[in-house]
Amino acid sequence: MLLLQKFQKLYSTPKLLKVKSFYFLVFFLYNCSSIPLFSDKCDFPNQALEPGGIINLIKNDINHNLLNIDYLECGIGNNTRIIAPIPYNSDKRLFEVLGIQIEEKSFRNSYIKITDKKFNQISKVDLVRIEKERKKYIDSLEREYYATNLDFPLLTPTKGITSSEYGVKRFINNVQRNPHLGLDIAADIGTPVYAVADGLILLSENFFYRGKFILIGHDNNFKSSYSHLSKILVKANEQVTKGQLIGLVGKSGRVTGSHLHFEVLFFNKKLNPELFIQ
Ligand SMILES: [Zn+2]
Repeated sequence: MLLLQKFQKLYSTPKLLKVKSFYFLVFFLYNCSSIPLFSDKCDFPNQALEPGGIINLIKNDINHNLLNIDYLECGIGNNTRIIAPIPYNSDKRLFEVLGIQIEEKSFRNSYIKITDKKFNQISKVDLVRIEKERKKYIDSLEREYYATNLDFPLLTPTKGITSSEYGVKRFINNVQRNPHLGLDIAADIGTPVYAVADGLILLSENFFYRGKFILIGHDNNFKSSYSHLSKILVKANEQVTKGQLIGLVGKSGRVTGSHLHFEVLFFNKKLNPELFIQ
């Protein structure tokens, strides 16, 4: 919205001013993307230079003058470290200019069958609902909040068996969909689900695809989410602590069986949860 106002202002002013304002805007945006968060603590997970992984490097070891990715800094002086997400679909060149090589990783195909008509022939009413929920989700990702005490490793959110790992290429009824950017833990309905770290409940909702769903905001721009629950035991805007019971495993939303779909986000990029949990 703010950007739109800037552009509108830009195009209602005299030409010279327009040009100047344009360069100012470019300068402003460039610098905006380079301002890092700063963390007092520096106990982040080990580096994993792969899609869905994390950068954890001494700042002086990379070409940091060209840093234009989302990142945070921790430590002081020569020990200052850069911590940054490596999104699943990121352009490797963004990292190469910094002197960082992202490894290739091949992900397996996964075929699932959804028989529930509701998910195969989506009604107009549900389309409206899906769009509303999408906006609500995006809004809560962008929301500012205050959270403390993020320590790694994160807790494993529930007891069960990994049924689908991060990154697999998803085919639903033989049609390729978005890759699977979470971790599926198969468990019986009613198995306890715990908050993986201290944080604030940003969303506690019943969504079309995700079913009963919780999104937690943690410190340092980390978030975690929990889908397909049978029961939610927390409310939006509630503070939770690491290990707190927040819900029960279920099969709500679009699923083939009872499991927890768990996601870890850093700067709102979905990363491989297995790199962050115990
Ligand atoms: Zn899943």
